[in-house]
Amino acid sequence: MTPVIIGGGLAGLCVALTLAPKPVIVLGRKVASGLTSSELAQGGIAAAVGADDSTELHVQDTLAAGAGLCDPAIVRQIIEAGPAAIEQLIRWGVAFDRDEDGDLKRGLEGAHSRRRVVHANGDATGEAVMRVLVARVKQTPSIHLLEGCEVTEIKTDASGVCAVMFRQDGKEGLQEIKTRAVVLATGSACALWRHTTVPVASWGHGLLLAHEAGAALRDLEFVQFHPTALDSTLDPMPLISEALRGAGGKLVTDQGESFVDELCPRDVVARAIWSQLEHGQRVFLDARHIDDFGDHFPTILESCLRGGIDPREEGIPVRPVAHYHMGGIQTDGEGKTTVEGLWACGECASTGLHGANRLASNSLLEAVVMGCRIGKALQARAADALSCAVSEARGAKPFTADDLHDTVRVRNLMMAHVGVLRESKGLETALCDLEPLASVNRFARVGMLIAKSALARRESCGAHTRLDTPCSS
Ligand SMILES: Cc1cc2nc3c(=O)[nH]c(=O)nc-3n(C[C@H](O)[C@H](O)[C@H](O)COP(=O)(O)OP(=O)(O)OC[C@H]3O[C@@H](n4cnc5c(N)ncnc54)[C@H](O)[C@@H]3O)c2cc1C
Repeated sequence: MTPVIIGGGLAGLCVALTLAPKPVIVLGRKVASGLTSSELAQGGIAAAVGADDSTELHVQDTLAAGAGLCDPAIVRQIIEAGPAAIEQLIRWGVAFDRDEDGDLKRGLEGAHSRRRVVHANGDATGEAVMRVLVARVKQTPSIHLLEGCEVTEIKTDASGVCAVMFRQDGKEGLQEIKTRAVVLATGSACALWRHTTVPVASWGHGLLLAHEAGAALRDLEFVQFHPTALDSTLDPMPLISEALRGAGGKLVTDQGESFVDELCPRDVVARAIWSQLEHGQRVFLDARHIDDFGDHFPTILESCLRGGIDPREEGIPVRPVAHYHMGGIQTDGEGKTTVEGLWACGECASTGLHGANRLASNSLLEAVVMGCRIGKALQARAADALSCAVSEARGAKPFTADDLHDTVRVRNLMMAHVGVLRESKGLETALCDLEPLASVNRFARVGMLIAKSALARRESCGAHTRLDTPCSS
């Protein structure tokens, strides 16, 4: 039977391209339409490609960021594969930025001890990488891309056959495909929070589908809040990257007072801003003094202008937002979940690389390395001919109008009580208020799973800060 990949972001496309010329079906929403986090990625991909760098140094930085909760064997395995992953992307046609000697340009990001963030088209890496991969996928005859699809359920049986149910634009009712290998590559769950940088439809579909199919989820409480998104009515909120603080942007309250060192780690800055907002202050990133702003930060300038702010004339209002989910569907080093025939990679998976906090730019790396690894593993299982028998699905669960109806309430609850600073009372309130919603809204159940994990971890660790318990480190 032909393997089925759910999700057409970086992770899913890497699985499909690695499997070629073995046939594979990719079920996804419309590709390259702004519905993937991959397209929004700015900074780049971390890999120890410099002469002054090594696997060992990158491993140490990753372990330090993960606050003692990474799986050291997985960290080594994924980091070691970094340079080969960059070479693979280059072979597929990605043109990374290079210096005048032709060497890869390497950016420096917070908590990295070396310059190792490889990028393409400046701060538009994700869009540049995805453009090339989507074009390549469309030219690969063995990849059967079904766009405009929303997978609503996966059913597994004792013989290892999985039925994947989905709705496709323009078609009546639900359809199903049977296979022996399903790869979940559905991306983030961070749109469950009211304020986020991820595409709006990222409700944690992969977590829901995997959980309902009986697969184990892990480390759900660990959510990275980016300290500075443009505080606006835009949804998602545009990222105002660290680079602006690195270039001298100052964080101030509306009285013009400084309250944190701008160059502290993400979680420290996020907590400081969150506290200001909770005390009724607004927070601004003042970058008016940066010369030639538009030349250095074209993406940020465009986002700010879209949100009605001109950063050359005024402070940029900022707030912490849900940005990256470290937890997810538990997998081993090959990408296998705890359910036979079900695999996961990219942001929806939890390999153990990130632990309690992600080192910047390690997520695209993980998506490529694990996507390619699953692709190789599935080569042995894949059939030589495409079998894509789509039939009408009977008795399947659709996503009903109710599933999205109360999503605004779910998002507000998650933001208010499962945010940057947490304590048991708020987490219990979230659970109590989410429960009645969860009987109709399947995504409220994902919120409940996350809130339960946050309540259970009675310590502050990495990105998970409990006001009512001591810090573990
Ligand atoms: C603004 C921003 C900047 C970032 N910058 C960086 C960076 O510089 N470096 C870095 O390493 N990381 C960065 N990240 C994180 C990184 O982009 C993501 O972790 C990564 O792209 C995830 O890839 P993915 O393939 O797992 O998911 P995605 O790229 O989000 O793709 C998931 C796909 O699954 C589809 N899907 C979801 N549910 C269903 C369903 N039920 N049925 C069908 N299809 C479905 C989605 O529509 C989407 O196409 C950034 C994230 C954001 C939001």
